[in-house]
Amino acid sequence: MSSPLRLIVLGLLPALTVLGAANGAERQPVVVTDAARKIHAAGFVFDGHNDLPWMIRTEAASSFDHADLRQPLPKLHTDIARLRTGNVGAQFWSVYVPAETAQEHKALLQTLEQIAIVQAMMKRYPDVFEMASTAEDVERIQKTGKIASMIGVEGGHCIEDSLGNLKRLYDLGARYMTLTHSDTLAWADAATDEPRHAGLTAFGEDVVREMNRLGMLVDLSHVSPETMHDALRVTVAPVIFSHSSARAVADHPRNVPDDVLVKVKENGGVVMINFYSGFIHPESARRRANSLEKNRELKAKFPNDADFKQARKRWEAENPLLPGDIHDVVDHIEQVIKVAGIEHVGLGSDFDGIPMVPKQLEDVSTYPVITQELLNRGYTAPQIHLIMSGNILRVLRKAEEAAKRVAAK
Ligand SMILES: [Zn+2]
Repeated sequence: MSSPLRLIVLGLLPALTVLGAANGAERQPVVVTDAARKIHAAGFVFDGHNDLPWMIRTEAASSFDHADLRQPLPKLHTDIARLRTGNVGAQFWSVYVPAETAQEHKALLQTLEQIAIVQAMMKRYPDVFEMASTAEDVERIQKTGKIASMIGVEGGHCIEDSLGNLKRLYDLGARYMTLTHSDTLAWADAATDEPRHAGLTAFGEDVVREMNRLGMLVDLSHVSPETMHDALRVTVAPVIFSHSSARAVADHPRNVPDDVLVKVKENGGVVMINFYSGFIHPESARRRANSLEKNRELKAKFPNDADFKQARKRWEAENPLLPGDIHDVVDHIEQVIKVAGIEHVGLGSDFDGIPMVPKQLEDVSTYPVITQELLNRGYTAPQIHLIMSGNILRVLRKAEEAAKRVAAK
């Protein structure tokens, strides 16, 4: 999920001209060849973040009767046919709930409701999806032709300050937790809110240790750079960024700075690249980077929430995003490779959680275009397979091993 103020304009994207391509000129569309198709089909995609469960909640009354994944669902980024075309073999399904739910003490309850949606999806389409608990499960399920499914909890607000709740979510299948979402918590600073703790508090460090002990991946998307550094110092397992891009390419606080990428290399983790136009296109990132200050200014001016939301919409319309394209996304992949190495990058599309997508990456069917562009830039089939799924599988396995080491102590 890109922002609590996401626009519900799926499928209604304006046709904008790309003005800010890195080389100053618009780059040509990528044409997928048979060679790329063959490489893509020989591996599989393991994507770090898809918000379909939130769309099922908000657009389909939490029921697959209203959004049957066997039918084409053009208003969504995801359905079964397009997952097959994209050769998605494994997916972290996000069980996102807004940060505000914490204030009403409904964060855990609503997260459990979102987990129930993922469980309902497994039950309704047993020939297509199967829940995976471990890296070994993922490989076994993918080999049977099904999509191995794991749950990602988006935001530490969901545990309502309780390590018991964290364990409960693990027991229900959660295999990563993003430490924060948009808001700074009592124990961790977020990237898009005021920092209050210079990173993690002592309890925040305990959360990371407990996740290590459980074998749950520590996800550093959405957190502040100080929280990233603190978590990387404390963790004994590799971390992930389930849906974050590179800050050196597009200067947005949701992206990962180079000095953190260096630490991710030492840690053995993986940065899974987010496709959102507002994060990947340099000019779009620039137009949204001062979002936080703008919110503060507008909230002071419009204390009434409805007025604030209207003013915010006006500001967004006056500062429109440019969609960017496939080339921008691969620029982010290459930045992580340049600083951290080919073993530390993956894909975390954020499909169905983002209000605008880049050209040629419109939905879950489009992953082969990435394979083609990586091939165009000189990467080999084994390297491409690392990016598609190999790196995140290694990280999962290492986190499972770390949990066993902690338990043996
Ligand atoms: Zn998100």
